Amino acid sequence: MNTASKADRALALCKEYDRLLCEISRNRDEISRASEKCDRMVTYSGGPLGKGVSYNAVPDGGNTCIGDVFEGYLTDSNFEPERRYYTETEALEIIGDCEGCMKVYLAVQARKANRMKLGAVKRSIRALGRIA
Ligand SMILES: [Zn+2]
Repeated sequence: MNTASKADRALALCKEYDRLLCEISRNRDEISRASEKCDRMVTYSGGPLGKGVSYNAVPDGGNTCIGDVFEGYLTDSNFEPERRYYTETEALEIIGDCEGCMKVYLAVQARKANRMKLGAVKRSIRALGRIA
C-alpha cells in the first residue's frame, strides 16, 4: 500500500468510525424514546388534588414486553435454577403486536450490529497504524 492509498484508507476509516458513532447514538435515542410506548402501559396522574405530573407505568408493577424479553427466564430443570434468554423467535412472539416494544427490540439489534462494525473499524485503524 503506497502512502497516498494509506491516507485514503485512513480517511475512509475515520468517516466510517464517525458514521457508526452517530448511528449508535441514534439507536440509543430510539431505545429510550420507544420504551415508554409499550401497549401494557397505562397513564396515571398524580400530585395533590389530582393536579401535577402524569406518568406511564405498567399496572401492578408489571413489566413491558421488551422488559420480559430481556429479563429472560429461570430454568428449573437443573440442579440450581439458571437464567436463560429467549431466542429471536420467542422474543418476537412475546412482543407480538406491541409497536413500541418492537421498535426497541429492532433498535437494540441494530445497535448490537453497529457496535460489531465499530469494533471491526477500530481493528482496521490499528492494523493501518502498524504499517504506516
Ligand atoms: Zn410492549
